[in-house]
Formats: sequence, C-alpha cells, structure tokens
Amino acid sequence: LPSLTMHPVMMGLFQRALRLRTSLRHLCLCSTVSTKARLPLAALKSPFLNFGSCREQHVGAVGSKSLPDGAPKRLPFSRVTKEDVDFFKKILPGRTITDPDLVESSNVDWLKSVRGSSEILLRPQTTEEVSQILRYCNNRNLAVNPQGGNTGLVGGSVPVYDEIILSTSLMKNINSFDDISGILTCEAGCVLENLSLYLEDRGYMMPLDLGAKGSCQIGGNVATNAGGLRLLRYGSLHGTVLGLEVVLADGQVLDCLSTLRKDNTGYDLKQLFIGSEGTLGVITAVSILCPPKPKSVNVVFLGCETFECLLKTFQLCKGMLGEILSAFEFLDSECMRLLNTHLKLANPISDCPFYIVIETSGSDPNHDSEKLHSFLEEAMTTLLVTDGTVATEEAKIKALWSMRERVTEALTHDGFTYKYDISLPVERIYQLVTEMRQHLGDRAKSVVGYGHVGDGNLHLNITSPAKDPSLLAAIEPFVYEWTAKFQGSISAEHGLGLKKRNYIYYSKQSQAVALMGHIKALLDPKGILNPYKTLPDKLR
Ligand code: FAD
Repeated sequence: LPSLTMHPVMMGLFQRALRLRTSLRHLCLCSTVSTKARLPLAALKSPFLNFGSCREQHVGAVGSKSLPDGAPKRLPFSRVTKEDVDFFKKILPGRTITDPDLVESSNVDWLKSVRGSSEILLRPQTTEEVSQILRYCNNRNLAVNPQGGNTGLVGGSVPVYDEIILSTSLMKNINSFDDISGILTCEAGCVLENLSLYLEDRGYMMPLDLGAKGSCQIGGNVATNAGGLRLLRYGSLHGTVLGLEVVLADGQVLDCLSTLRKDNTGYDLKQLFIGSEGTLGVITAVSILCPPKPKSVNVVFLGCETFECLLKTFQLCKGMLGEILSAFEFLDSECMRLLNTHLKLANPISDCPFYIVIETSGSDPNHDSEKLHSFLEEAMTTLLVTDGTVATEEAKIKALWSMRERVTEALTHDGFTYKYDISLPVERIYQLVTEMRQHLGDRAKSVVGYGHVGDGNLHLNITSPAKDPSLLAAIEPFVYEWTAKFQGSISAEHGLGLKKRNYIYYSKQSQAVALMGHIKALLDPKGILNPYKTLPDKLR
C-alpha cells in the first residue's frame, strides 16, 4: 500500500488483511458516490415545493382520495369560513396561503402515503402569532395540524381532513449560543442541517442526526422525539433538550425555555411535549445541549456473513472502542440491492449478507486510530467480519454514511412501502425480518431490515408494487403481536401519528393510555390540536 496517501496508523490497519486491502480500492470508487444523501434544502428556498425528487416516482396512494384503513370519521370541528380567512390574513399578511397549488405539498406526507384536504396553510413568524392563531382556533373550534419539515413517517404531519396547517417554517431564528456550555436556543422552524452547520463553525455539533436533516426542523424533531444516528452516544432528546417554549391549545404561551442542566423545581413539564407529536401544544422554541465537535471522526463500513457475527462485532466494538463509539448501524443485503438498483449507489465492499456502519468520534486522531486498529484486527482475525473499508476524510465519510442514510429513499422507489419501526431486545431484531419473509413468501416485493443496532431499533420495511390490502392483512397484526411477544415497542422513534395510533395497546398498558387521554383533555379540552393522531380512537 505504499502509494496510498493516508494516515500512517490507518494504513497499519490494512497490512495484514488482503481483503481489506482490496476494499481500499473500493473506497476510492466509493468517494465518487453522490453525497447528495440528505434531503434537498428546497424547503428553505421554496417552502411550498419541498419534495425530494424521489417522491415523484413513489407508487402510493396519491391520486386516490382514499384514507388509510381505519381512518376515523371527521370530528365535529367548525369549517373554515371566509371570515376566518380574513382574520388570518389580517394577522399574517402575505403568510396566509389559500392557493390550492401552494397548499398541496403540505397536504401530502413525505412518503406520499396519506393525503389531507386542508384549504389553508398558515405561516407564523413569531410565538405571539402562533398564540393568536391558536386562541382564535380554540374559540372557533377549528382543528389545527402543526407541521415542521413534513418528513414524518407515520402520517402525523399532514391533515386527515380539513385541519388548518400551521407551519413553523418561517420561525428559523437562532436566539443564542453559549460556546462555554454548548447550549443552543433557537426557534422551532430551524432546519436540523442548518443548525449543524451553524454549530460546526463554532466547534460544536447537534446531538442528533438523521437522514432527513436537510428538511426536518428542530421543533418537529422534538415533537417526534426523533432518535437517529447519534442516539447511541448522546442519548435521546429527553436528555439533551433543556427547555421548551410551547403554545398551548388555548393560545397560552408556556415558557419552560430553561437553559439549566439541573432544575428539580417540581414536575419537568417540557418532557410532556417531547414526543407528543403536536397533540398537546405547538413547540415554538427549543434549548438544547450540544456536544463539542469531535476532532477525529472515522467511519468504517464492514461486511458480515451472519447476523450472529454482526451482534458479536457489536459486543466487541463496545468493549474495544468504548468511549469513542458514536454509531453502530446496520443494513442487510436486500437494502444494498435497493441502493444499487434505485439510487445507483455502488457497494463499497464485496457482497455480504449484512453490512455495518460504525462511527467513532474522539479528540485525538492517533488515539482513535490505534483503538480502531486493534478492534479491526480482532474482528478480522476472529472472522467476525469478512470485508471492510475505512474513511477519515469528510467526503468519504459522507459517502459511506449515505449507504445507510439513503435506504429510506431507495425504498420509496421500490413500491408502496409498509414501514415498521420496532424496538426489541437487540438479539431479536433480525429474527423478525427472517420470520416476516417466511410468513409473507412471494406476496411481498421486498422485505428488508436496517436500523440502529446500538439502540435495539429495527426498521422493517415491506414493499409491494402498489397499495395492497391483502398484503397489509398478512403483515398486521402479525408484526405487532410478534413485537409484543418479546416486550418490544411498536414505535421506537417515529411516533404513532395517524397510522399507528390504534396499535398503542401492543406496547402500553391501558392505564397508561388512559392517563395520556386525561393529559390530552386537560391541555386541549376541545381536542383541536392534531386530531386523529397519536391517541387511539377508543380509550379502554
Ligand atoms: P413533521 O414531519 O412536520 O411533523 C412530525 C410530527 O411532529 C407531526 O405530528 C407534527 O404535527 C408534529 N410537529 C412538527 N413540528 C411541530 C411543532 N413545532 N410543535 C408541535 N408539533 C410539531 N426519524 C427518526 O427518529 N430517526 C431517523 O433516523 C429518521 N430518519 C429519517 C430519514 C428519512 C429519509 C426520513 C424522510 C425521515 C426520517 N425520520 C427519522 C422521520 C422524521 O424525519 C422525523 O420524525 C423528524 O423528527 C420529523 O421532523 P419534521 O420537522 O419533518 O416534522
């Protein structure tokens, strides 16, 4: 390898393993892979046309006016009148959108799987405007659908009927950043990727990262309690969010925008809104604790022959990389096939049944490389991994990450996608994919598994050429019963939205769901905020 220009310690990683050496050649190819993994930043430039190109080709329910199976009847909310529109135009001049062509993209979810029929989109710029809107809607009994970047995957971000869409897209100011504590305070409509770029210049990073970063907003992230790729290292938003400002259904502004690490003065109310999916209040501002940007980042892409080997690699990785491990993700060979077929992404290593993406983040490149060296050596000599490649440069890191981040996008090109986001004891997560494949036989087009191994979170996705009720009947409730049997969660990180709300009892006791109902009734007695979402149609 003498002709290759790379860090000398990294070079040592490959001296013993012929197959890994071959992979270096692959890595060169891989660096030419498009790094446009993230969703376009179009949402910033044109708030009304924020579809990624993949969406146009998705085969789904769009075009039909059909609602997802089991959609509830429209509740007796008022309908928007001309007087209502006049009121909104007065308080939001130029930002009350009623042109059907412009409202259209906000009526359809990212997956193009559900469609509402709202005729009005409101784009407030301030908390005071959100407050005025909600006060008015509550008095008039008008239902409201809070919307961030509209990248949610469970049908929570778009109206079911004619709910008013309240978009936070124009609330994108950064209020403050303390470069001693790393605490960022910003408005809810800040796009995650923009926050990351802002922090990068200041030596920090966001504690969360996800494939939708180019469009999703921090308010939406908090409202869904998004997990993503860094949860393994930095924990969930329940830990990193320090404060929230929320407008309640009646227009009251709840100011819990604390920037304190420690505050035990009574109930921690902000936690109620983290993961509440717009059903308890509209989040208008967030303060969040951000870690320093690591000085050294390595990404490794490895291949394994069996899922058992993959789990053993995870164990080894935790033991040997410990404090520098920041992500441990996987995809199966079916995902790789879809990446190749639909996005023309080339496999950076040789074909394997399973692939792992490992990221390390630390403060000393030599120290991290040495640790990685030892780990890879051990993983190779014990035959846990059969092939692999390493990236230390940013472009190559992005290219490797795109193999994992773009699976969701590749699936949208494969057909109508039935998506399941399951938490399970980690040793079980792939068993569900295998059993689902056997269970469905050739009824499904593709059955794929990928996800966050480090968090015990499987994304099980099943595609068919078009929406197929008989296939759905074969998948559900099988998938939920299987998950409940092993004490898993039927929604690890995507939330319940419209699509999963009635399956909540597979993962929560009736008593807990009933208490959720009481909290909803207390905070939103008329039920105007994101109706038909999160809570089941019938409380037991
Ligand atoms: P939206 O989709 O607009 O809304 C989601 C929900 O939050 C809705 O119920 C909406 O009513 C509510 N909401 C939005 N903003 C507010 C607000 N300000 N106040 C109150 N309620 C609000 N999710 C993960 O957890 N991990 C992943 O790794 C991940 N990867 C993804 C990859 C891709 C390619 C895509 C398309 C999605 C992915 N998601 C992932 C799902 C999605 O991106 C997240 O749920 C994200 O947090 C949603 O943010 P958003 O701004 O788009 O919210």
